Amino acid sequence: MDKNSIFKILENIPDPEIPVVNIVELGMIKDVLVNDNNEIVVQIMPTYTACPATWQIQNDIQKKLSENNLNAKVEIVYSPAWTTDRITPEASEKLKKYGIAPPQKNGTIHQLTEQSVVIPCPHCGSTNTKLVSPFGSTPCKALMQCNDCLEPFDYFKCHL
Ligand SMILES: [Zn+2]
Repeated sequence: MDKNSIFKILENIPDPEIPVVNIVELGMIKDVLVNDNNEIVVQIMPTYTACPATWQIQNDIQKKLSENNLNAKVEIVYSPAWTTDRITPEASEKLKKYGIAPPQKNGTIHQLTEQSVVIPCPHCGSTNTKLVSPFGSTPCKALMQCNDCLEPFDYFKCHL
């Protein structure tokens, strides 16, 4: 089993928080190592230090690979840290269509509350938006509202 085939399998695992995107396109897989004995180690970079999703992703990876008769160890790698640059442009589009504003650089919740960061509305693109609540439908998301189209939306705020 080579690395690329394993990546292909991992592309079938949705993000536990946001099922429209998979863990590969979110850039959560740092690397897949296969040694001469065909032992597999999947290295993941957690996107949510504050969220309980990481253990679930570990579980999902092991389950999905064992469905393919593969045994893997899952290693969590904290350094280098995951950044939003690892999200593919396609995944960013999917997040937008799902009504979630993709993470912005320097868009931590602290900066959101200070209104120093502009989060564009995923519905109409307006930059005239406001923070309604630092915690949206999950701890990873903040609830925002657009001042132009008045639609509420989630902002994926973890980790930047
Ligand atoms: Zn809007």
